[in-house]
Amino acid sequence: MDAYDAQLIEQKWQRVWEDEQAFHVGDDVEGPRFYMLEMLPYPSGSLHMGHVLNYTLGDVVTHFHRRNGDAVLRPMGFDSFGLPAENAAIKEGGHPLEITERSIASITSQMRRMGWAIDWQREVSAHEPTYYRWTQWLFLKFFEHGLIYRKEASVNWCPNDQTVLANEHVVEGRCWRCGAVVEARKMAQWFFKITAYADALLADLATIDWPERTKKIQTSWIGRSEGAELLFRVDELDIDIPVFTTRPDTVFGATFFVVAPESPLVDRLSESEEVRSYARIAAARPTEEREQREKTGVFTGRHATNPANGAQIPIWVADYVLMDYGTGAIMAVPAHDDRDRAFAEAFDLPIVPVIDDDGRLINSAEFDGRPAGEAKGEIVAWLSDRARGKQAINFRLRDWSFSRQRYWGAPIPIVYCDACGIVPVPEDELPLLLPEVADYRPKGQPPLASNEEFMNVPCPRCGGPGRREADTMDTFVDSSWYFLRYCDPANDKAPFDRAHVNAWMPIDQYIGGIDHAKGHLLYSRFFVKALNDFGMLDFREPFQRLFHQGWVRLGGKRMSKSQGGVSPTELVDQFGADAIRIYILFQGPADQDIDWTPDGIEATARFLRRFWRVVHEAAEQQASPAGVDTPLARKAHETIARVTDDIGRRFVFNTPIAAVMELINELSKAPHDPAARFAAETAVSLLQPYTPHVCEELWGVLGHSRLLDEPWPVADETLLVRETVQLVVQVNGKVRDRFDVPAGLPEDELVARARASEKVQSFLDGEEPRVIVVPDKLVNLVI
Ligand SMILES: [Zn+2]
Ligand SMILES: [Zn+2]
Repeated sequence: MDAYDAQLIEQKWQRVWEDEQAFHVGDDVEGPRFYMLEMLPYPSGSLHMGHVLNYTLGDVVTHFHRRNGDAVLRPMGFDSFGLPAENAAIKEGGHPLEITERSIASITSQMRRMGWAIDWQREVSAHEPTYYRWTQWLFLKFFEHGLIYRKEASVNWCPNDQTVLANEHVVEGRCWRCGAVVEARKMAQWFFKITAYADALLADLATIDWPERTKKIQTSWIGRSEGAELLFRVDELDIDIPVFTTRPDTVFGATFFVVAPESPLVDRLSESEEVRSYARIAAARPTEEREQREKTGVFTGRHATNPANGAQIPIWVADYVLMDYGTGAIMAVPAHDDRDRAFAEAFDLPIVPVIDDDGRLINSAEFDGRPAGEAKGEIVAWLSDRARGKQAINFRLRDWSFSRQRYWGAPIPIVYCDACGIVPVPEDELPLLLPEVADYRPKGQPPLASNEEFMNVPCPRCGGPGRREADTMDTFVDSSWYFLRYCDPANDKAPFDRAHVNAWMPIDQYIGGIDHAKGHLLYSRFFVKALNDFGMLDFREPFQRLFHQGWVRLGGKRMSKSQGGVSPTELVDQFGADAIRIYILFQGPADQDIDWTPDGIEATARFLRRFWRVVHEAAEQQASPAGVDTPLARKAHETIARVTDDIGRRFVFNTPIAAVMELINELSKAPHDPAARFAAETAVSLLQPYTPHVCEELWGVLGHSRLLDEPWPVADETLLVRETVQLVVQVNGKVRDRFDVPAGLPEDELVARARASEKVQSFLDGEEPRVIVVPDKLVNLVI
């Protein structure tokens, strides 16, 4: 027996798989298909441990499904436009293209050394003209369908990155990338009309298998609320100002009116420099500060008419009202709204209660005495008869601003012409190549604007002088459709062929960070719905099943790039890829954060050496007879059942490793058992998705070949007899049922069985209980 040499074994098998293109999957495959995808990386710098976790997880799923008979599509690409690559280039002092391509080459070679089962023939990178040609083409499609428009708006400006940010990328008033406090600026920007799909984005969440917390994040971000739109008249200006409210029952208590400082109404309402300068300064404050600090505001000198009682109420501009909500103006009801009350108290404005302690209306004319809940609809109907209001639905979601004042992105295919206005670049002129510029660093003005040769073009419509759009597209546009391109990566007639995407999509399993819940995961859903409406594909959701991996932490801090001593490359050099792969998944449930410790990997490397030795010893034994029944054989069948259930049904990846370790342990205690070889084969076969190199080598030692394509083992049910234990089921601590279950069932299975009991159900009353589990003994359901 040779000593275990990870480097030798891994290089050997990686070469074999590469020569065979083992993980390439064609378009004409037969039988069931499985599309496995992890979010693609930004190529800035090199791979970090977070990537190692994400892609190893996807790798186990890939191998598991391949060996269970699916044709698995598992591609890889690079989100290579955008700030991370560009900022890395600025820091290192090179050109973004050069640095991006260098990073891609380095990450690719690291990925190959990890032995991940990737179909490299389908690789795409967002910065390549063969890709962004089609991003631009899709821009034109969305534009043609009225789902893209340009407008002057108050936008989020990151003073550090010198560019506009989408609402989704402002976290507590700060830029999500660099942490700078975001400012408000008025600029003409390009928007995707994602709000046209607000209802569909909400409703279709019910059709996909996503974590509940992610659905909640999207649901509250879309923020649908039912209420009414009421019209407040400003007689002096002869205008009606609409407000959205979820509380039309309190309209009689509206004693003043507030406009957000960034609202275009401010300039119409007042010419006073005091009002305008307040608005300018207040609009630039971070949202968080505006919502929490002491109330500030200024009276415009104008009044609006309360549509319910005709009262003339003062109009203020105040920064506690945000442009994001409703129409950017509110009716203030200080008696029944905390923030309105704080403002009224600060500025000595009247407070009129309109609901009494019993929840009935008061001070509300003919509606006095009506229960507030019922009065809502009645008051809206009454105002509607007077053309002063109507029922309305409001969404918190805003259109997606996607133009960026930066260099490293896909140019927007638009020409401005004095005679024709906004003119799209003709399809046959794509790709509109990203030109060279003398200086690509951000300076507030888009860098492309300084390239006169690029900027000055004849208008495609009238031939007169035209000027190109100088902004580029946000990289989140690129990543909203990359998973479709993987299905048809070489197509030069269209972004993708409909039959090709229909054959693979929707993605069966998507894996990526929950930090993309409001951005990428929402944008991609919008893209797919719109493309479905354009007739380009036959499905409405991109990601059927979604899983969020946890973060890898070092000393309590989340790792997002390689940090001292934990560069994946150095670890591969020292321990081999298999040791890192198994280590990263062994640390705990993959959806929770894990702490990186240097001794952990040593222990994993020791286990692999032991595994190597024990399997070699078993290989010297006679082949195990079919149906062999010994305690070791039973242990092997039980391990098959556990690992299959954990990966396949429960989507848990750490416990299978422990199960195989236990089996190896049992095998080492009974090296001459008639089932020794069978146990060794089983361990090697089950561990293959985690450590494919050493397992392929050991499979050969055991006298077989191509474990990669070996069908997944199936447990012999007749050898799975387990001990039984009595499970006690309590509801709120009282015993309500008891029955026998097999010993060693996982907790969620115990809970499922407890809840399935009819006796128990009658005490639950359909409520969702909290659960307390004592394994093999007790389930207590608490409601
Ligand atoms: Zn920033
Ligand atoms: Zn023109």
